[in-house]
Amino acid sequence: MQFIDSHAHLNDPAFDQDRETLLSTVLPQAGITTSIEIGCSPEEWQPALDLTARYPGFVYPVLGVHPEYAPLLQPQHEGQLKELLPQAVAVGEIGLDYTCLEISNKELQQQIFTQMLELAKQVNKPIVLHVRREAEDYSAYDDCFETLKRQWHPCSGAYPGVLHCFCARYEEAKRALDNGLLLGINGCFTYKKNEYIREAVKKAGLDKIILETDCPYLSPQGKRGQRNDPSNIPLLAQFVADYLDVPLEEVAQQTTLRAKELYNLP
Ligand SMILES: [Zn+2]
Repeated sequence: MQFIDSHAHLNDPAFDQDRETLLSTVLPQAGITTSIEIGCSPEEWQPALDLTARYPGFVYPVLGVHPEYAPLLQPQHEGQLKELLPQAVAVGEIGLDYTCLEISNKELQQQIFTQMLELAKQVNKPIVLHVRREAEDYSAYDDCFETLKRQWHPCSGAYPGVLHCFCARYEEAKRALDNGLLLGINGCFTYKKNEYIREAVKKAGLDKIILETDCPYLSPQGKRGQRNDPSNIPLLAQFVADYLDVPLEEVAQQTTLRAKELYNLP
């Protein structure tokens, strides 16, 4: 069986001790064929491209500006990103995060998000969307979908993007699907208290999801508190298979195909 980790941060310092072993040995042995590396602040762009160059055909880069890092963006960065983006498989992770407003206010987040959507349009790439809400206040999703409606011109690929780290209700899932987006499923799906996420995913259907770790964070249930890495994708897939009551092989096949279509992978 083959699996793709559609969203990883393997350049995180958490992997400094064993990054090479992971990528050259551990992940291939676990059935992982591809790891999508997210470079989401200016200082992460070149390292993401360097990792891609070291593991060609295995690592593919996504470049953008995470809403939390919006304050780091300098005027010269936009041109720099535009030059690098042809080497990336998507623009991301971009969006709105209302859990970090004290470091990155709504107005600035909105401005950078809009700028990133404009860039995605110019380079005709799909987007990796990051939306995070504060507790039970879902307004981050309202604001995000409103911005998409106003600003967005989806790329011409099979799917225009993914709502990564899906952690919301079916209402939000439906709005994402209506925009042509896939749902990125990770450890959050497996946590005991998150029945509403599982229900939403079941309603959305297996053909609308891709699997991700968002490592080093969000290890699946049973491994919580430990560092996450792409070798946990088969475990996550098993959770999905059990809950949706489909064979593990089918989860592997479908999610791999969707991720390839989304990122336009060979
Ligand atoms: Zn991430």
